[in-house]
Amino acid sequence: MAVRNQNGLMQAMVLDAPGEKVQMRAIPRPRPGPSQLLIEIAACAVCRTDLHVVDGELPHPKLPIIPGHEIVGRVIASGENVRDFVVGERIGIPWLGWTCGHCRYCLGGQENLCPNAKFTGYQIDGGYAEYTLADARYCFRIPDRYSDSEAAPLLCAGLIGYRALKMTGNAARVGIYGFGAAAHIAAQILHYQGRKLFAFTRRDDLAAQEFAGKMGAAWTGSSDTMPPEELDAAIIFAPVGALVPAALRAICPGGIVVCGGIHMSDIPAFPYDILWREKRLVSVANLTRQDAEEFLRLAPQVPIRVTMESFPLSEANTALTRLREGKLTGAAVLIPKRVDVSLS
Ligand SMILES: [Zn+2]
Ligand SMILES: [Zn+2]
Repeated sequence: MAVRNQNGLMQAMVLDAPGEKVQMRAIPRPRPGPSQLLIEIAACAVCRTDLHVVDGELPHPKLPIIPGHEIVGRVIASGENVRDFVVGERIGIPWLGWTCGHCRYCLGGQENLCPNAKFTGYQIDGGYAEYTLADARYCFRIPDRYSDSEAAPLLCAGLIGYRALKMTGNAARVGIYGFGAAAHIAAQILHYQGRKLFAFTRRDDLAAQEFAGKMGAAWTGSSDTMPPEELDAAIIFAPVGALVPAALRAICPGGIVVCGGIHMSDIPAFPYDILWREKRLVSVANLTRQDAEEFLRLAPQVPIRVTMESFPLSEANTALTRLREGKLTGAAVLIPKRVDVSLS
């Protein structure tokens, strides 16, 4: 495949310091190391975690950093140790970018908890760019039925939604608090599995409630109200700690509340009585490669349909602002518009 930029530069949206906007830059296109792929990016979805990185709510990002960890693109070069992918193949790059392989978590099937892990768009430059590098061992083939921009949100919204759903076991009545990108994918899996969905949104967010209804919710309402029947499980995707006691109140004895985000505002104190009777409160952290393999097999079977809005790469700040303000329906996806970058 021809490399378009003769001078070896690429466009990227770069975060210099938390709290600032991402800035369009022309920077050298990276070269793959022995286990890496060089990817020409076709689409990169925008995740709430990107907002937490940009807003400085996650500690110690690599700086400057190119955010973005829901990347779909094509392999244009690979290192000498790569065996699994060939040039021209379409692949997806998720949040989990590298793990150590020898800690107790890696050895015990919980690589998502590896203390040495590196994450895409946080400690490794990510997908708000025309090209990126990825360790081939953490990349996945994308099912053919999806276009590039439809597939991108599967790689975090989909994967984290799937891992959160797995934690609810076979709960028949599931509440979801915060109806954005992850929720709209989880809703379709719940529907496919014959489970009943109760969707909670910000108060008076009728657009989100209508969207949830279209995605198969049996009931929609605002997050400060109780559902019409007891829930067996609840997943909280909104980064709002006050939802934890609300969800604990909504679930039945023996039920589970799953916190699906990487960051949440402080959880207010609550009476022990709402946790009593073997209710469980857990978080979901990151993903394993097994989650990705399972989920990408399941997605075309459901089949999961992705609702998204696309933005040119140069409008990454607009997409982030829309996400922060809850003004997106489904997922935002950035599309690099390739133009020759010439600084000299
Ligand atoms: Zn490890
Ligand atoms: Zn994410």
